[in-house]
Amino acid sequence: MPQISARKVSMSYEKKPVLEDISFEVEQGDYLCIVGENGSGKTTLMKGILGLMPLKSGSIRFGEGVNVNHIGYLPQQTVVQKDFPASVFEVALSGCLNRIGLKPFYSAQEKKRTLRNLEMLGIGNLKHKSYKSLSAGQQQRVLLARALCAAEKLVLLDEPATGLDPIVTGELYRIIRNLNQTGVTVVMISHDVRAAVENANKILHIGSSAEFFGSTEEYLRSEAGKKFLRQSSRAENAAESTEGGTGPCRI
Ligand code: ADP
Repeated sequence: MPQISARKVSMSYEKKPVLEDISFEVEQGDYLCIVGENGSGKTTLMKGILGLMPLKSGSIRFGEGVNVNHIGYLPQQTVVQKDFPASVFEVALSGCLNRIGLKPFYSAQEKKRTLRNLEMLGIGNLKHKSYKSLSAGQQQRVLLARALCAAEKLVLLDEPATGLDPIVTGELYRIIRNLNQTGVTVVMISHDVRAAVENANKILHIGSSAEFFGSTEEYLRSEAGKKFLRQSSRAENAAESTEGGTGPCRI
């Protein structure tokens, strides 16, 4: 039984339809990237998976042992989050909130789990630091540790590399890949389709121009995949030539 099974999901904001008839499955150990143009509904779908927004129709079911309260979620970073006035340890530990239930405090086991996740992500030494004093890349690692405290088996990540430079982005993707190799199922929204096809074993492409769900190999051979990869190369080239000023003209 898949960990997540979505059947003909449609979602809308008031009367404005955003997603129509989206179906996909996530098996244990998968690394699924959700790609598509800006505004195609990727974040909305993630909110649907987490039960933060109702579905208009269709269903999202979880496999045995998966509870929506125990899914680790790393939302897109907001300006407020960047200035959060707490220590690294406290931010990561807050991922255990859903585990403590009605208890008024965290147990020694939850604290140990938090420290283990910080250490696994290479930031155990920063545990007493103030979260807001960290670099953007370090902050993303803390939020990833927080998501892992909520759930060690399934994490949903919404554009975790937003605002990071290419080197830190590569490092973060490496960490996420390693996590996946240790058995954590990863569902990640990414605007970077190149990184998506390098890292993920499954791709879900949503949008009005194309829709696809299947293996990365199938996506690379599909019309949707070929077209989106071409478009994103063109967009990258255009951005580089604008940044480069008087550099060579790219076609
Ligand atoms: P993506 O993550 O693919 O960029 P989103 O899921 O954020 O797309 O948004 C999908 C569409 O829904 C967009 O047209 C966006 O403007 C609209 N939308 C997003 N959030 C809201 C909201 N809170 N209220 C109304 N419309 C929204």
